Amino acid sequence: MTQQKLDQFKTLLKEQASYGEAIGLMGWDMRTKAPKKGMGHRAEVLGVLSQKVHEIQTSDEMKSCIDELKGKVEDPVMKRALEEAEETYEKTAKIPVDEYREYVTLQSQAESMWEEAKDNDDFDSFRPYLEKLVEYNRKFADYWGYENHRYDALLHNFEPGVTVEVLDQVFPKVREALTSLLDKIKNAPKQPDPSVLEGHFPKDKQEQFSAEILKRMGYDFQAGRLDETVHPFAIGLNTNDVRVTTKYDETDFRTAIFGTIHEGGHALYEQNIDENLSFTPLADGTSMGIHESQSLFWENFIARTEAFWQTHYELFKSYAPDSFKDLPLDDFYRAINEVKPSFIRIEADELTYCLHIMVRYELEKALIGGEIEVKDLPRLWNEKMKDYLGVEPETNREGVLQDIHWSGGAFGYFPSYALGYMYAAQFSKKMQESMAVESHIQNGDFQPIKEWLTEHVHQYGKMKKPLEIVNDVTGEGLNPDYIVDYLTEKYQKIYQF
Ligand code: ZN
Repeated sequence: MTQQKLDQFKTLLKEQASYGEAIGLMGWDMRTKAPKKGMGHRAEVLGVLSQKVHEIQTSDEMKSCIDELKGKVEDPVMKRALEEAEETYEKTAKIPVDEYREYVTLQSQAESMWEEAKDNDDFDSFRPYLEKLVEYNRKFADYWGYENHRYDALLHNFEPGVTVEVLDQVFPKVREALTSLLDKIKNAPKQPDPSVLEGHFPKDKQEQFSAEILKRMGYDFQAGRLDETVHPFAIGLNTNDVRVTTKYDETDFRTAIFGTIHEGGHALYEQNIDENLSFTPLADGTSMGIHESQSLFWENFIARTEAFWQTHYELFKSYAPDSFKDLPLDDFYRAINEVKPSFIRIEADELTYCLHIMVRYELEKALIGGEIEVKDLPRLWNEKMKDYLGVEPETNREGVLQDIHWSGGAFGYFPSYALGYMYAAQFSKKMQESMAVESHIQNGDFQPIKEWLTEHVHQYGKMKKPLEIVNDVTGEGLNPDYIVDYLTEKYQKIYQF
């Protein structure tokens, strides 16, 4: 009986994963190659397939598998898959069906309204949609339940185990350290000159260089590909089909090169998940924060280091146009690490990025908690930007309207980015204790680094929870000291203060 039920459970998971793969592939297609005219039709198809996944997750069959198998399954993979399926089932079941349906419609309306509002710099046209989204998310959080803060219920969707209590301890510490670093950097006598990086860099050459670096990182082109898009992303369809996308700016090579390496870090994670997890919901990154730790590790802790460019600068120049021929390595290295507070999160440097996140975290926490309302957002946004980054956007387009997240109802997502920085710093420190990371980077030998990450993080997929990984790897929980130490040391050297 149990075996039969287990087989039924596996079949349901396989169906779910297969629909998921089709949805993923269509999503990739829409964002890379699909003809414009087919978009409307494709969106409808995606709606139908997503509905199917939802039906499987909440079906009576699924419920009976969960009920009958709970506590009886020995196999660790199936045991975890069962927990995961139960959580999804419970969460969905708590939301009344018509509320869920209304919410899905609202999400897609709000997203296109946001796009228009952003284009026109018109917050008021988006405001009623955002108000409804906030209203729904407050309600959902109440349905799901929480111990201390309503926002915890939403955080759980992206970073299980992390709570307001944790973030309110960690973020202010990091913020204080970063703002004081920022002050020192502003007043430092030796400023990098980013204008040395300006110059036409043909797209095909950028593409060749990016692909070469991906290969060296250990990204498997037999199990992936590199394409062009507007908003770059990586997507794992299955462990043997993990795709990277990037975008080329012929006047600024940094977009493509650091962007590709970033997405490559996400992709390495997905390519190296244990194949035994295939066709289960566990064949995925364990959280947004751990995923981001992997992309940031490659982008910052590898590709923005002096050691990396000591080896790769000649290669870079062999692809670069002649205008970079006489640029000294040190000027190049300092320029790619320039710190400059800006309005836009996705253009932020390694140091100010977390400050952008803290602005968003505090606002969405207060919004979900009912302490502030949507109408207060533009004003509070600007105040916090001024407080933390010392810059104040003049338009909402460059301020509160810049990110897509809230328009899709994704509250609780933003902290993952800052957590990614912190996890990456913790992993990096630990890795250095067990091997000569810098000399591997200097030798362009990334194999041991990739293997370390696979052994400690990638292979597990969702078998381990995010903080379980952090604990197992580092012997401690989330600790912001490492990111602060890393940034202090790095920028002291670059800015000489
Ligand atoms: Zn990322």
